Amino acid sequence: MSDPTRPTGPRIIAVANQKGGVGKTTTSINLAAALAEQGLKILLVDLDPQGNASTGVGVETSARNYSTYDLLLGEAPLTEVIQKTEIDGLWISPATVDLSSADMELVSAEKRSYLLHDALRQIDMDQFAFDYVLIDCPPSLNLLTVNAMVAAQSVLVPLQAEFFALEGLSQLMLTIREVRQNANRDLRIEGIVLTMYDVRNNLSQQVESDARATLGELVFRTMIPRNVRISEAPSFALPVLSYDSSSKGAEAYRHLARELLARHTPVKTKVAG
Ligand code: ADP
Ligand code: MG
Repeated sequence: MSDPTRPTGPRIIAVANQKGGVGKTTTSINLAAALAEQGLKILLVDLDPQGNASTGVGVETSARNYSTYDLLLGEAPLTEVIQKTEIDGLWISPATVDLSSADMELVSAEKRSYLLHDALRQIDMDQFAFDYVLIDCPPSLNLLTVNAMVAAQSVLVPLQAEFFALEGLSQLMLTIREVRQNANRDLRIEGIVLTMYDVRNNLSQQVESDARATLGELVFRTMIPRNVRISEAPSFALPVLSYDSSSKGAEAYRHLARELLARHTPVKTKVAG
């Protein structure tokens, strides 16, 4: 898998959308689990102070001695922060409410967008030999999300197949453009994935055709259906792939993982003006 901008090291993907409840955390957890199931070694970085991704892969609050916050501020070594989960090949940098702290703002303006970038490129990363790093972003275009976009090679955008889905996308694209201009010239859009898709709902189909008409190839062929097993899995602290391996939800995330892996060279983008 050759990436001229980064011949070695993991491929880093930020899962972002400033809207809450669109499936960022669900997609981060289950895409990570599906990639791990393919035999890849994955680091999931929980960058949301709510810590839902951490809980969702079985890391209880009491087991978060160190968190992504410590990683960002260099207050604990990477080897202490990241933990192996119960899922083979899946590691996590857990989040705690510390992440919502304003301390990051105190770092010099020049450096504060690069905290995650630098943390993920420290020498300690090499020994883990991760294939992918997935970053679960908070529901905002704040400094944390900017850190994810500066650290990443690409952004994966979950889009809920509901009314107003496309609204807010131009704001997201604007932020991506700013990050490209200021910090990460090669930042790409990995793709847009429709989530909570309901085949029986005209609205879902409408959102899909609008998204494909506007965004073209950027939209993954794979769509994640609305599936009750997906929504149940977090209360068992498991990815849906482990909770109900043959469910439609699990199959959809496996399919998404395969589609992602097949897109060795993600499309260069020309989106939203
Ligand atoms: P975000 O991280 O963008 O805020 P989440 O991934 O937490 O969104 O999803 C919001 C809610 O929707 C959660 O309760 C989650 O379990 C549920 N959910 C997400 N995707 C699906 C799906 N495909 N089918 C059913 N429920 C889903
Ligand atoms: Mg979330």
